[in-house]
Amino acid sequence: MMVLYEGPRLLDFAKAPAHLQFNKYVLTGYRPVSTAEECVRSLFYMHNELGNIYTHGIPFFLFLVLLPFSIPWKEVDSIWICVVHYLACLCPTMGSVLYHLFMNHVGGEHVYDTLLSLDMVGVCLVNTLGAIPIIYITLLCYPSVQQTALLVYILLSAHGIYCATTARTNVRRLRSFVWQALFRFSLFLFRVYGSGVGSPNSLRLFVIMDCLALLGGLVNIVQIPERFKPGLFDNWGNSHQIMHVMVICSIIYLHWGTLEDLAWIKSYQCPAE
Ligand SMILES: [Zn+2]
Repeated sequence: MMVLYEGPRLLDFAKAPAHLQFNKYVLTGYRPVSTAEECVRSLFYMHNELGNIYTHGIPFFLFLVLLPFSIPWKEVDSIWICVVHYLACLCPTMGSVLYHLFMNHVGGEHVYDTLLSLDMVGVCLVNTLGAIPIIYITLLCYPSVQQTALLVYILLSAHGIYCATTARTNVRRLRSFVWQALFRFSLFLFRVYGSGVGSPNSLRLFVIMDCLALLGGLVNIVQIPERFKPGLFDNWGNSHQIMHVMVICSIIYLHWGTLEDLAWIKSYQCPAE
């Protein structure tokens, strides 16, 4: 990696601030405690959070600029569905970039905990906002059930945000999303076996979306590959970066699935009673 800016001396695991010692298989490359300005400068030299920042930073800008071109704003009756979907795609990368960029801020553990909560809220929001179009379309022909389902899902989301922001381990963080995942799964079943509706092509895309997100969360928990060769993946290729890439792929599948449903809804008429 080209060095654009001469960074500070980086720290080994043992010398890093205690609240940054969350992966004992990442041995080197820790940034020292820094001011906000120094954190921003760390975009331009190599350290062990650089990969995490860019694996979500670059997709954030690409999504921000490119997604509006593929979202059918004017072809959908309710434009709010499009707005909710666009925000869903942007939330997780935004929280993540702030967390990874400023986690070594001089404000210490308090700032770190706040940023980590922000990161988790981003993940909760893609879960919640991302599923709203899916719920809306699946229950299209049952308006009263549709509204109740949306309300229940938002309540589950509030519970998920509470669990995820108070969790102390990656296992508990992943578990915070289980209720929303089960709810989505029951919607998928309702599409296959019940009278839920939607594009015949979207369900497969949504299932891949959830599998990628789950797999990413699991890789992050088991800390593979760095567990097998501590120190080798300090800067590139560690479990957290693999999870980041899987999250991006998951968002792309959410986008494809939602586009399928939005295109399908145009020509669909609910059967008369
Ligand atoms: Zn991250």
